[in-house]
Amino acid sequence: MIKIFPPTIKEGKKECIIAAEFELEGRREELWYRLPNEYKPYIVTEQLDAFVIALLFLGLKTGQDIKLMAPISSRLFYSIKHYIIDALCLVNSAYTKIKIIPTTLSTLDFNTRGVAGTGLSCGIDSFASYYDHLDDEKPYKIEYFTFFNVGSHGDFGGEKARMIFKDRFENVQTFASEVGREVITIDSNLSEILGMKFQETYNLRTISCVLILQKLFKNYYYASGTRFDHFSFNKDEIADLDMLLIPNLSTESTSIFVSALKYSRIERTDLISRYSETYKYLDVCTHPFEKNRSYLNCSKCYKCKRTMLTLEALGKLDLYSGVFDVKRFRKEKYDYIGWLLSKEKKLTLDKELIIFLYSRNMINSKVHFYTIKNALFRQKMMLKKIFR
Ligand SMILES: [Zn+2]
Repeated sequence: MIKIFPPTIKEGKKECIIAAEFELEGRREELWYRLPNEYKPYIVTEQLDAFVIALLFLGLKTGQDIKLMAPISSRLFYSIKHYIIDALCLVNSAYTKIKIIPTTLSTLDFNTRGVAGTGLSCGIDSFASYYDHLDDEKPYKIEYFTFFNVGSHGDFGGEKARMIFKDRFENVQTFASEVGREVITIDSNLSEILGMKFQETYNLRTISCVLILQKLFKNYYYASGTRFDHFSFNKDEIADLDMLLIPNLSTESTSIFVSALKYSRIERTDLISRYSETYKYLDVCTHPFEKNRSYLNCSKCYKCKRTMLTLEALGKLDLYSGVFDVKRFRKEKYDYIGWLLSKEKKLTLDKELIIFLYSRNMINSKVHFYTIKNALFRQKMMLKKIFR
């Protein structure tokens, strides 16, 4: 059995740490979240909500029930018991159905500020989420951005992930101040504790940070990469389950929504390209430490290529020539399209882009040449792997 003990808070000079000890197989460890002191008044120490959500994967992975030594939100407990555990076990057969054993269920609403927030990475989804809420009024208006270190900068955490977190934050911070918003950063050792792939666990990791700040956020928008009609139980694309999981992580104090679900990736890209602030700050790159980089985006990785192709098809790529190597892209454009067409396992977003490229007459004989070239290259790499 996993036991989670009541959270405690420690204040340092600039930052405070909220932490809870937990016991697993006789071993005691501590899960912590670190954030600037100014947000301390909004931290929930009365309930274990954030810690339960964070450590749930540890229970599912090890098959151990989770016993709570402090209160949990009654609504969250109900949702975990009736929906979350079953949905996660259905999508991943490696998980075991476990029980959460509460001591006290709480129906308190802690929220004092009545504001809304959303995560900001300066990628397509977070920008789309922000611009889609420009007209909303309090408590739905986005007044804060968040930026968390719980796996998106490196699955297993550690110092390298922490460095990337700090590096990427600079861009996020500059954009936020340009649009007059604060960014709340939360660092955590959750990645080190879970030791699990980010792609399979990211949604609950992120929401655990949000639940630390229930006194601040009345509403929180989680920018998922998925669209309504992509809903499915698929272990390889767990984002397609976000629209079921995320709203079910709401509590009496904080409602959590999956935002921008009405837009396809192409529509999101089109939406954000209408706002000139994005031209300087769009950051989609998965290679944050590419050497000698003259652009914010490496312009070579999967996400860079896909985004540049989308922008080119929309006729908007030149607007982003400050953050992408557009010259290089134009030289290798057909190779990029061939590379996309030759992919064996095409994601939903790849398929959507290919249809769009056809509609824009961007698939020609040159592309077919590069499709074959890329397919042969992939086969060669696979054979190398087998005979190594
Ligand atoms: Zn890149």
